[in-house]
Amino acid sequence: MHTHAHNVLWRECGNVESESSLTAVSRDAEVAAAIVARRDGLLVVLSGAGMSQESGVPTFRDAQTGLWARYDPLELATPEAFRTHPARVFGWYVWRYQLVQRAQPNAGHYALATIQRALDGAGAAGQSVLVVTQNVDGLHQRAGTTDVVELHGSLQSFRCLGAGHPYDATAIGEMAVPPDGEVDPPACPACGSPVRPGVVWFGEMLPQASLERAYRAARACAAMLVVGTSGVVYPAAALPEIALSRAIPVIEISPEPTALSPHVTLSWRATSGMALPLLERALAAPGGA
Ligand SMILES: [Zn+2]
Repeated sequence: MHTHAHNVLWRECGNVESESSLTAVSRDAEVAAAIVARRDGLLVVLSGAGMSQESGVPTFRDAQTGLWARYDPLELATPEAFRTHPARVFGWYVWRYQLVQRAQPNAGHYALATIQRALDGAGAAGQSVLVVTQNVDGLHQRAGTTDVVELHGSLQSFRCLGAGHPYDATAIGEMAVPPDGEVDPPACPACGSPVRPGVVWFGEMLPQASLERAYRAARACAAMLVVGTSGVVYPAAALPEIALSRAIPVIEISPEPTALSPHVTLSWRATSGMALPLLERALAAPGGA
């Protein structure tokens, strides 16, 4: 009896707590929606590894598990490493590519795609969404987001080392990765040069056109949303700084405080899978965008 009453009391306290945190969360959603809806123009969404982690995609460091834990990133993700140990490096990317193929976009990816369709749609004059991502997994596109700026390239695209001829990834998805992890890179059908992943390696330039487009958008946008990124890795970290320096509102969605948190217009403590569907609903509500 006493135990029962205690349980009831405990559950009630739990309810009160979850209700008040729910209120805080929906207030954040309303504030974020009001910021986005306040001005016509471009909403830039900068996304990072946190969004991928929520889909079970390991971060770069976390991808160095098991067989790969014995290697330094510089032995797996540089042009020199590929030239010296092509089968080791290529094997790691085949493994990661296949892992990403098995992952699914999460609620945050889908909500963002819906927000883009709603704001880009005919019903919302003067607004549009550009997603700029540090992620290489293609999950935004698989959720339906179009025209994604991929600052670090893509795990889904392969090309030859020599001339950059594109290589069909379908065959790579079907390759068997042996226990030692080594897979010889195929030869480019056009020129015979070895096939490499379409990601940006350490020591390589970020794709210049993508970077310039992201900077231009950051300077000219109406608002910026930063999701699942710690905001410390340059040059992506410069994008919110550019926006803030021009008095453009910046909303951060992150479960943990980041270096950016003290400077943003709204720092929303939540995962992207939780926050973005709430933002989607707040924007769709009467009085939203
Ligand atoms: Zn080629």
